[in-house]
Amino acid sequence: MKLGIAGRTAIVCAASKGLGKGCAVALAQKGVNVVISARGEEALAATAEEIRSETGVTVRAVVCDVTTIMGRAELLGACPDPDILITNAGGPPPGDFREFSLEDWQKAVNANMLSPIEMIKATVDGMLDRRFGRIVNITSATVRSPIDELCLSNGARGGLTGFIAGLSRKTIAHNVTINNLLPGPFDTDRLRGNLAYRAKDQGRDVAEMTEIAAANNPAGRFGTAEEFGATCAFMCSIHAGYMTGQQILMDGGAFPGTM
Ligand code: NAP
Repeated sequence: MKLGIAGRTAIVCAASKGLGKGCAVALAQKGVNVVISARGEEALAATAEEIRSETGVTVRAVVCDVTTIMGRAELLGACPDPDILITNAGGPPPGDFREFSLEDWQKAVNANMLSPIEMIKATVDGMLDRRFGRIVNITSATVRSPIDELCLSNGARGGLTGFIAGLSRKTIAHNVTINNLLPGPFDTDRLRGNLAYRAKDQGRDVAEMTEIAAANNPAGRFGTAEEFGATCAFMCSIHAGYMTGQQILMDGGAFPGTM
């Protein structure tokens, strides 16, 4: 399917690995020029080169921490007027809420609620003026079905979801859509870290824990970054202009509700 976005420019935050990388690759495969970011230079440069050589689009790599004011300024300096914005950052650590300090909560809210909002604030008005914009926030299935040990994520991402619910209804008349893409278990470093925590907590072996988690998913496996990226690219396409304010859940069917 032609997505109608070749030649557009996207900022993909936190994209040297995992789901952000999956989104950047999928957009580039559809002809979108991408500006990708991460804190680690080596992996980011390798991903940028991989996308460039596979797709031929223009790829700019900005080494920065997207959860800081300075990091976001660097990223926006490299691309002040993106047509597409994918917000993303590392997830907060798992743990018992009794053990988290106020500072831990502030960090989670900063990374997973305020940083996306700041990126949207800096880019949405240009999209509205140009009458095209697609914003996809990578959030989490925990917004739909909370996981106890991911309490920081459950809380911080809930705040972002509430904010988007309001703004997304104000922008669609100008062909600017804002949606959230909610990953369940996807085979990335982040998932492996969470499984290691759970294995330790339950006194199990990590390999055994991983096998159980995959088998317990209705799909019998974890999702892939490629599958995630392909859905994100569709949400950024011209065909998705009538969809806004939605929580698009990709979890292999793990959420048991009818709707
Ligand atoms: P990942 O495989 O660990 O990749 C994270 C990527 O983000 C890396 O490129 C990392 O590079 C970059 N990054 C992290 N913090 C950053 C920061 N402050 N500034 C810029 N770049 C940053 O993680 P993932 O699985 O793709 O997860 C992406 C998001 O989805 C996370 O918020 C995660 O909690 C959420 N999520 C994932 C799953 C899953 O199963 N994978 C499920 C639910 C929710 P550097 O470290 O070099 O910066």
